[in-house]
Amino acid sequence: MTKLNSRVPEGPIADKWTKYKDKINLVNPANKRNIDIIVIGTGLAGGSAAATLAEQGYNVKAFAYQDSPRRAHSIAAQGGINAAKNYQGDGDSNYRLFYDTVKGGDYRSREANVYRLAEVSGNIIDQCVAQGVPFARDYGGLLDNRSFGGVLVSRTFYAKGQTGQQLLLGAYSAMNRQIARGKIEMFNRHEMLDVVIIDGKARGIIARNLITGEISRHSAHAVVVASGGYGNVYFLSTNAMGSNATAAWKVHKKGAYFANPCFTQIHPTCIPRSGDYQSKLTLMSESLRNDGRIWVPKHIEDAKAIQQGKLKPTEIPEENRDYYLERRYPAFGNLVPRDVASRAAKERCDAGYGVNATGEAVYLDFKAAIHRYGKEQALLHGDKNPSEAKIIELGEQIIEEKYGNLFQMYEKIVAENPYKTPMMIYPATHYTMGGIWVDYNLMTTIPGLYALGEANFSDHGANRLGASALMQGLADGYFVLPYTIGDYLSNEIRTGKIATDTAEFEEAEKSVKERLEFFINNKGTHSVDYFHKKLGKVMWNKVGMARNEKHLKEAIAEIKEIRADFWKNVKVPGKLNDFNQELEKAGRVADFLELGELFATDALDRKESCGGHYREESVVKEGEQKGEALRDDVNYSYVSAWEYKGEPSEAVLHKEHLEFKDIELKQRSYK
Ligand SMILES: Cc1cc2nc3c(=O)[nH]c(=O)nc-3n(C[C@H](O)[C@H](O)[C@H](O)COP(=O)(O)OP(=O)(O)OC[C@H]3O[C@@H](n4cnc5c(N)ncnc54)[C@H](O)[C@@H]3O)c2cc1C
Repeated sequence: MTKLNSRVPEGPIADKWTKYKDKINLVNPANKRNIDIIVIGTGLAGGSAAATLAEQGYNVKAFAYQDSPRRAHSIAAQGGINAAKNYQGDGDSNYRLFYDTVKGGDYRSREANVYRLAEVSGNIIDQCVAQGVPFARDYGGLLDNRSFGGVLVSRTFYAKGQTGQQLLLGAYSAMNRQIARGKIEMFNRHEMLDVVIIDGKARGIIARNLITGEISRHSAHAVVVASGGYGNVYFLSTNAMGSNATAAWKVHKKGAYFANPCFTQIHPTCIPRSGDYQSKLTLMSESLRNDGRIWVPKHIEDAKAIQQGKLKPTEIPEENRDYYLERRYPAFGNLVPRDVASRAAKERCDAGYGVNATGEAVYLDFKAAIHRYGKEQALLHGDKNPSEAKIIELGEQIIEEKYGNLFQMYEKIVAENPYKTPMMIYPATHYTMGGIWVDYNLMTTIPGLYALGEANFSDHGANRLGASALMQGLADGYFVLPYTIGDYLSNEIRTGKIATDTAEFEEAEKSVKERLEFFINNKGTHSVDYFHKKLGKVMWNKVGMARNEKHLKEAIAEIKEIRADFWKNVKVPGKLNDFNQELEKAGRVADFLELGELFATDALDRKESCGGHYREESVVKEGEQKGEALRDDVNYSYVSAWEYKGEPSEAVLHKEHLEFKDIELKQRSYK
């Protein structure tokens, strides 16, 4: 079996990155002008990388399937971005952010990468402030912070509920400067459909113009994949509907190992599903758990009455409410990590205490926070004896300032006023920790091919902490790749322009065209969505929040069947050389149908419970932790890196064994 080389530098963890940077090979400025880099994706990870690489002097070609980098899925990020600045003076440090991230990820991430992430986190905030990102400020004008789950400090920087949008505007303006200088050539509305490998190195891509259907070849000395996550394998998720796994899956099929595909994050606070004809789920940011309290009725009769529409939550007195997170996890309460909060919601709903007609919802209630803030505001206004109405009015104003856009979004979707009645929430697929395997340099197992942001597997282990994805994407793009890629490119300064009229480009283009033609010519009977929904149901029911051997085996068999049916019966209307979204979707769903099988195969291999991967067979049976997920460090303390071999379930497993030298391995406890 191949030993994966993670290329982690030697030495004490706090010095690794600095010393490594001191010794790494560099490319001189004149030579950078002769080197081309392709960046797939211009979300926060790809956008920050493209801007920085171009600023350094490389020639960048950037690709995105949207009509502008501003529309990348990163724009949806609501809650915030972490950084160990310790502005609150509440004990934060690089080590604590590192520790929280490794623990939050249930000890399934690579220590050295996570430490580096914590180390550069502060630079990200400085960089973004310099770009003009309007982070929230406190009364004195300093940058404000709030808390996110799984930590005991406030380290989350935010811009109302629109942090991703503001950060993306910052990265986009940095990109625009380089586009104007001619250092970035931007290919909007272009989808990368294959990577080209020459003599074992990534040398280019095949792309389709989504407006005209034209297929084009692009060469480079290195290719960077920053194409986002694959949560839409579940069909319903909080991801943008266009988010897909095609770029990641194509490079996997050409030799890049795919790591930990089963590590998915099911986010606890999403608006519950309303029915079978829904195409998207909506997140209610984790930041709401700073002030919202999660509960279900204590008595099953009350839950039933609510489900039947005979009782309202506001009619249930305090003593008859079960604030189950505060009850089970007194140390972290409503701010336990996402995997723990999601499972706890499922447990209550499975036991019959759900609070909507489907029985799959719990309450997120702001009443206590409205009172607390209202009383404080009244005092600040000099009113020592405020009326109840005044307290509520003042309290609601504060909640509106903090979360106004989220409350508005909720009201528009659910048609209920969340200031007056508790929100209903339920877990939904949100983020994928798994992704393309990368070493310390963020290079994949294909030389010259890099992966960044949500597209790679690094840093978050089996569960990502809130507000850490933006941190990782921007760390990768602004502060890690621009150094590490030089090490590889220093050997490319004599290569010269890479030709595209080679057999490898010819072959890749041919197979892309054949597949597109197949879809258009197939005389099938069912739409692409029909198959995607079927896949999503199998994934949610059998590879979702709780997994077991029997269901996983069934899932693998069922996904194979759906895939076979898809290739026989899929119907794609429209033309080949035209704007054709059904054609785009067909290719993406074909890839999801393979990835889903690998996902279930990985989940079957990992018989332990860890982070978002909960195996019903691996649960604590006795004592204070009874019922909690049980990790197995003896047998599963590794990253699963899968090598493509044809059928996804026949992929070969390579194990990167994880070493914990700076953090003691412990069963997680948030009690
Ligand atoms: C609703 C929501 C809220 C969130 N809130 C937060 C938060 O508050 N804090 C936090 O830290 N994280 C949050 N996250 C997670 C975070 O937003 C994402 O993990 C992160 O933005 C991903 O960034 P990215 O650059 O890796 O990918 P993306 O932003 O998804 O960008 C992918 C890019 O790749 C391009 N692309 C993809 N495939 C191809 C292809 N084949 N060819 C060409 N281009 C391609 C796309 O066009 C796009 O430009 C949230 C996620 C969701 C769903």
